[in-house]
Amino acid sequence: MRIVVLPGDGIGPEIAAATSNVLRATSERFGLNLRLEEHPVGHASLQQFGATVRRGLMETVQSADGLILGPTATADFRDERDGEINPSRFFRKNLDLFANVRPARTYPGLRNRFGAFDLVVVRENTEGFYADRNMEQGNSELLVTPDVVVSLRRITRHCCERIAQAACKLAMRRRKHLTIVHKANVLKVGDGMFLDICREAARGYPELAVDDVLVDAMMAHVVRRPESFDVIVTTNMFGDILSDLTAELSGSLGLGGSLNVGAKYAMAQAAHGSAPDIAGRDLANPISLILSAALLLAWHGERLGDAKYESAARAIENAVAAAMQRGRTTRDVGGDLGTAAAGRAIVEILQSDMAASAAAR
Ligand code: NAD
Repeated sequence: MRIVVLPGDGIGPEIAAATSNVLRATSERFGLNLRLEEHPVGHASLQQFGATVRRGLMETVQSADGLILGPTATADFRDERDGEINPSRFFRKNLDLFANVRPARTYPGLRNRFGAFDLVVVRENTEGFYADRNMEQGNSELLVTPDVVVSLRRITRHCCERIAQAACKLAMRRRKHLTIVHKANVLKVGDGMFLDICREAARGYPELAVDDVLVDAMMAHVVRRPESFDVIVTTNMFGDILSDLTAELSGSLGLGGSLNVGAKYAMAQAAHGSAPDIAGRDLANPISLILSAALLLAWHGERLGDAKYESAARAIENAVAAAMQRGRTTRDVGGDLGTAAAGRAIVEILQSDMAASAAAR
């Protein structure tokens, strides 16, 4: 399996290094023969090649079996014509990675104010209130006069149908409960269509329990009773916001894993941004990107029908949980380790599991 790693900006290089180390240890333990290939993206690429996503990078990514994209300083990037492209948008749109799957769960051993839960936000990724991905040409935020801005949201039947199907299938593999999050009381046409299509898709899975919640009320429900949710499907912007909340409820934004999935490609990406406030200080929690990489391995294994990738993904998740249980984590989740040491703790757990299973044989 050949994986392209794009470390990105801010804390990106720190968490990408820790993630690559965990992947190498996993590859050794499960005989995956992973090949990791690193390329610059974001500011590093802008400096070196004059563009945040350099020419030819797409072909490199398309020829690989998976992509890991670190967070980038998207707020800094102004004009694509100057090479300041949002890499996240670029790969999601051009690889048609329509489903953004963002699990959030609590861990034994990690103090949690909201009770134990285990849920997944499935977010539409290719349209909605994202001005940079709605138009064939140009941007859907329009400056009408210096004092008037119109931002357009695109919702299409095709994109609703495929995200609804992805969410239903995932819910069938989990606790068979789907919650549709929307704002159809106000966005009656767009979210009304999204809601109808999700309900219609769910009728194809009679075993699913289906409910729906208005997005504003959802902020209260998910804090009050996070354990009552399983798979949550929603549109792009709502899903982006909701999944930061669910990651933080689970203990830290730094735990938020995320996989962007399309028909042919997948991209692992942390749920959070480049965190300039802690960049370069060995403070960032690498677990978000490590868990995202585990999701990528599981996706690859499912495509190939090769169970060892799924086992490798589970081993990473278990090693993360064990590190958390032992307090061998970064400060945001109550530990006292730096980014690199927190990554090493997970590697050591994977290696000691490997030694234990070798001894058992
Ligand atoms: P952020 O998500 O980077 O950070 C929010 C807060 O969470 C900060 O206090 C940060 O220190 C903390 N945090 C984030 N990740 C953490 C981790 N792994 N461990 C510990 N703490 C962590 O949001 P922001 O500061 O508003 O945005 C910074 C930049 O990131 C902006 O340029 C923004 O546009 C960009 N961004 C990029 C992506 C992406 O590349 N996918 C996503 C969101 C934001």
